[in-house]
Amino acid sequence: MGRAVCVTVWLMVGALAAPAPAAGQAALTPADSAILNSQPLKRLVLAPSLLRRLSLLAAGLDREVVLCLQGTVVGDTALVREFAMPDIVHSSVDAVTPLPCPPATTLAVWHNHPWVGPDSSFGLRTPEDLCSLSQPDLRTVVADSIPFAVVSVGRAAQPIVCWWRRVQAVVNRHVKFLPRFPRQWLELPGLAGAASGP
Ligand SMILES: [Zn+2]
Repeated sequence: MGRAVCVTVWLMVGALAAPAPAAGQAALTPADSAILNSQPLKRLVLAPSLLRRLSLLAAGLDREVVLCLQGTVVGDTALVREFAMPDIVHSSVDAVTPLPCPPATTLAVWHNHPWVGPDSSFGLRTPEDLCSLSQPDLRTVVADSIPFAVVSVGRAAQPIVCWWRRVQAVVNRHVKFLPRFPRQWLELPGLAGAASGP
């Protein structure tokens, strides 16, 4: 849903898990903290089988698509195991316009970012840099009510998956793009049953 826009923003967003705001990173307002704390679902777990299928799809797709991830809720954790594909109005290598995922049955909305090589004008050096929510992505996530957004970077040498709570997108809605969170990224080599970051 749109290529990341500007590398300079990397310095501004950082991770919500950071113990203290880094230099240049906006502090959370009391309202932002209230939003974060009021959302019951804090963790996302992708079933290993689902993760394999998503990674396989992303590896082969040269255009963006959207999938609605479904599963169950246990406490503050969403466990997703299956997906349904919504109708897609428009799809290209760096954008996709789907019909909405049904909010009653969707816990996370997934889409892929096909890796097409480094692009200095967008600050993209590695496929990992493409695991971010672009401004159009953020607008879509904020406008939606689905608790999580998941992105796979496709056509890369290895599976790359990252995700965000919707409330993290709400809190960061004014940034140019929202990178993956470092803590989540560090958990990913285990892939199977990986839990989310902050
Ligand atoms: Zn996107």
